[in-house]
Amino acid sequence: MRWRSHWVAITGGALIPDLPMVLFYLTERLVLGTSNRVIWSTRYFDPAWQGFIDIFNSLPLIGLGAYIAWRARASAWLAFLASMAVHSLTDLLVHREDAHAHFIPLSSWRFISPVSYWDPRYYGGLVGGFELVLIVGGSAVLLTCYGHRSWRVIAGVLLFLSILPAFYALSVWIR
Ligand SMILES: [Zn+2]
Repeated sequence: MRWRSHWVAITGGALIPDLPMVLFYLTERLVLGTSNRVIWSTRYFDPAWQGFIDIFNSLPLIGLGAYIAWRARASAWLAFLASMAVHSLTDLLVHREDAHAHFIPLSSWRFISPVSYWDPRYYGGLVGGFELVLIVGGSAVLLTCYGHRSWRVIAGVLLFLSILPAFYALSVWIR
């Protein structure tokens, strides 16, 4: 399959929307020494940080880039941007007060989903469980059938990290 040769682009596109968040956290925590509580209750909502994070989650910008990539027949870029779109659309469905402005620069409107990917008051437990099933299932598929060799390594690590807490719980429970 041709898409398999684009595994770097697809993996990169899947990760890039969260990259500004990693930079945000590392800057606040390690450079500025902000506490975790202040980071997620105050600093995360700082307009400058929000603007920076929103750029990487903008559906119109991803769409524009995809149109240019399609016209230029740049299939790797198209795969990269499609992967970004999947991430951003998924984020759109499972974020509440922490939602990104997915439609900048056209609109700064944020969709407040009835469902949260982490908050137990808004089905966070259910979404978290579903996410775990997706990770374990997806990793198993990548590991056994479709995977590029590097994807298999990533899938193996993900699978290991996903089942680690279960083993830990089991070890505590048995003791
Ligand atoms: Zn995200």
